[in-house]
Amino acid sequence: MQKERKLLIAGNWKMNKTAAEALDLVNGLRRELAAVKEVDLVVCPPFTALGHVSQAILDSNLRLGAQNMSEHTGGAYTGEISAAMLKEFSVRYVILGHSERRQYQKESDLLVANKALTAHAAAIKPIVCVGETLEQREAGITEKVVGDQVRGSLAGLSKDQIEETVIAYEPVWAIGTGRTATAEQAQEVHAFIRRILAGLFDEATARRIRIQYGGSVKPSNARELMSLPDVDGALVGGASLEVRSFSDIVKNSI
Ligand code: PEP
Repeated sequence: MQKERKLLIAGNWKMNKTAAEALDLVNGLRRELAAVKEVDLVVCPPFTALGHVSQAILDSNLRLGAQNMSEHTGGAYTGEISAAMLKEFSVRYVILGHSERRQYQKESDLLVANKALTAHAAAIKPIVCVGETLEQREAGITEKVVGDQVRGSLAGLSKDQIEETVIAYEPVWAIGTGRTATAEQAQEVHAFIRRILAGLFDEATARRIRIQYGGSVKPSNARELMSLPDVDGALVGGASLEVRSFSDIVKNSI
């Protein structure tokens, strides 16, 4: 399928996989996906497996992402990981503001924006997550919520930086629930996000930014979702933990 922007499909492994398990998974993906050129591929293991996975994907078409990062560059922040530490493992992407972090770690749009600026300063591309809860969708405030998150989480980014940023629209009610947004629901919100980006920057810039969909993406729904005009890839949770399902998502998207 011919797309305006190259698809970016990323696996968010969350708090799964020991280093040994991560190696098994990534070696399998390397084998299965070696021929894929049409899609940018990213794996986001837990911090403890970054070093192993980084070595295992050398000279491959897989790129490395992290699941979080500190907004600070270093210092007395116990338990935090800096951009420079990620760079040591050739991390190219970092997921920021995932709904699980917004919910459990109370991450705010301002914090996400600061992290995004720190990531860009280190030439790491942020994958900035936004999305409404079921309650918010049912209350009819999806656009207000997502619009505020997009504006707040990207605050302060320059035009050059936004072009190196990926946005992931992940309706919270679709994450890990097996419930996927319909094609119409996904396209509607993706087009809305692109209109906001056009307002914040300009039309041409907005057309260059990749907006991923996330929320129970699986092999059976990948083709339809990835064919939508404003959907430029997927952020995959559960289905990224098995070689077969992640590879099939990628292959079904081409
Ligand atoms: C996610 O957590 O980013 C995600 C999309 O999870 P899942 O695919 O399991 O819904």
